[in-house]
This record gives sequence, C-alpha cells and structure tokens, in this order.
Amino acid sequence: MERKNIFGLTLDELETELLPLPKFRAKQVAAWIYQRGVTSFDEMSDLSKNLRGELAEKFFVQLPQLVKQLDSADGLTTKFLLKFSDDTAVETVLMRHDYGNSICISTQVGCAMGCKFCASTLKGLDRNLTAAEMLGEIIFIQNFLRGTNEKVDTLVIMGTGEPLVNFDNVIKMLRLLHEPYTLGLSYRKVTISTCGIVPAIKQLIEEKIPVTLSISLHAPTNKLRSEIMPINSAFSLNEVLKAGNDYANSTGRRVTYEYILLGGVNDTEEHARQLAKILDGQLASVNLIPVNPVDERNFKPPTHNATQKFFHFLATHGINVTIRKEMGADVNAACGQLRANS
Ligand code: SAH
Repeated sequence: MERKNIFGLTLDELETELLPLPKFRAKQVAAWIYQRGVTSFDEMSDLSKNLRGELAEKFFVQLPQLVKQLDSADGLTTKFLLKFSDDTAVETVLMRHDYGNSICISTQVGCAMGCKFCASTLKGLDRNLTAAEMLGEIIFIQNFLRGTNEKVDTLVIMGTGEPLVNFDNVIKMLRLLHEPYTLGLSYRKVTISTCGIVPAIKQLIEEKIPVTLSISLHAPTNKLRSEIMPINSAFSLNEVLKAGNDYANSTGRRVTYEYILLGGVNDTEEHARQLAKILDGQLASVNLIPVNPVDERNFKPPTHNATQKFFHFLATHGINVTIRKEMGADVNAACGQLRANS
C-alpha cells in the first residue's frame, strides 16, 4: 500500500484518516506536526511504540525541503528556496521587524499576471500551490524560528503568484492556520495582496474572515495601469477601486493600495494628484514602494526627491500614506524580486 501524506489535513480529516483509532489520537498527531515541528512518527513520544510503527507504515508527514537559504547583510531578512515533492520550488521570506516576525509566502509556482516590473512572472505560471504546500512554507519557518524560541507573528501573502486566482487553496490554508491545533493565527495578522481580481475580492468579502486586503494599484489612470499591468484590461481601475471600497465598507478594515514608484513613469506630482483624487473618501491607505531592481526589467528607481514629493503631496491631501521599508534587496528578497530559482 502506498503511504499517504497527512500534512495539511484538518483535524476532522485526520480523525477520519486514523480510524478506527479514537479521536484523541488525531489531536496528538496534529499537535506534533503543526505545533512541535515533528515529521517522524518515531518522535511522537506520547504514542506507544507499536502505534508509531503502524502509523509510519501507512502515513508520512511531508514538509517542503530547504534548497537554499540567504541572509541579508543586516541579518533582518532571510530568504528560503523551498522545494516540493515534484521538485518545483518557491521562495519564502522571513522579515524580523521590531513588532515581530513577519513571513511572506508564495501562492503559486510562477505567475501568469505579467506585470512589467516583477520578476515572479518572467517565466509564466507553472502551477498553483496546494493548501498543504502553503501551510508547509509557514510551518517550515515556524520550525526554523523555534531554534531561537521565536515564532511567526504575522503573515503576508505577497510572494510569488496571485493569491486570488488560487482562491480556494489560499482560504483553506488560512482557515487551517487559524485553528487552535495549528498556529491559531488571528486573521487580523494576515495580509493578502492582489493585483485586483475583482470577482475574487467579492468572494473574499463573503468568506467573512477579517484579513487585511492590499491592492496593487501602481497607476492612477487606466491607460498607464494597462501599460504596466496586463490584468487591467480584464478588471479596470474603476472596478478595482469599487471592489476595494466594498471590501472596506463590508469589513470595516482599511484597504491598503500599493503603489510602486517607477522613476519617470508614474512618480510625478501630477500622478500624485490623480491618485489622491481617485482615492478621495475611501477608507484606504497608500503604501509607496520605490521599485526594486529586476535584472530583466529596466525600470529606474524614483529619485529620493521624487519619492519625498509624492509622499508629501498625498500626506497633505488627506491620504494616509507610508513608504515601504525595503528589506532584503541585497539577497533579492524584496518585493517583486522573488522567483523560482535564486
Ligand atoms: N500578485 C500579488 C502578490 C505578489 S506581488 C499582487 O500583485 O499584489 C507583491 C507586491 O510586490 C505587489 O504590490 C507587487 O506589485 C510588488 N512588486 C512587484 N514587482 C516589484 C518590484 N520590482 N519592486 C517593488 N515592488 C514590486
């Protein structure tokens, strides 16, 4: 009989899988794999030796494998290249902030969205990650942090891939991560970033999980947005803004609009004025991201002066605005620099 992977199962699913064992056995196993970082039944010391042997004959616990780890010079960012059972790999990033450890996970191998400034989409989409694989990225890092008595405090779903086109798996993973028998992570500690898949934003409202929504806007007009983000021809700026507004109104949570500053492309005062205008009256904030270099793309970063002016214009025109702290650019771990092979 082929052994079956049990990593990624819910407690209910695990109970069924372990039948005729009593339910508390599933609880014990879940605690070992999700909370104590154990992948071998041998180490599950509250199960009898016989039972451990029986389980090992039928099941295994599959986490992604570490291929490569890169630490930024300041020691604050660590990028992991993680490999799945079919040998595909994604990057996951750990960022140590003063408010805690944040991790940025990938949701797809590659990406089909084609944004002109991003490295993750250069080779198109390979496949969606499963809920178990995404949970695997998180538990892998949680296990890594256990060594220094730390843990994962916040999650950003902003790595390679478009999370809202892998909607069901992302939601399944978030619900599992929220369970007390895994990390019990509060939805409020989760941010999902999307390039603006409008129907899926509506679906996310229906899920009624209070995650923070970040929308990659990057341009204040349809014309410019279409030039740098092909998805804009499917869902226009107005539709995206309306969906963002609906999300804020339904959840009471401020939506973050991400705006990459591309030197000479979208970083003038006129662009800032247009942006302030389209966001007028929205429960929203803007996160400015000076573009991170990607070898194959030739966008220039904005000048310091242009960034400050853009920021100042928004701040003095009623917009809640921040500039993203760049982390890990020296190991190509910053926004838009992730890819399947580093
Ligand atoms: N597909 C999702 C999540 C992945 S991208 C999305 O589009 O939001 C995460 C963030 O990094 C997005 O705001 C994206 O636009 C931004 N990004 C992509 N390439 C970048 C680059 N070269 N420099 C800075 N940010 C970039």
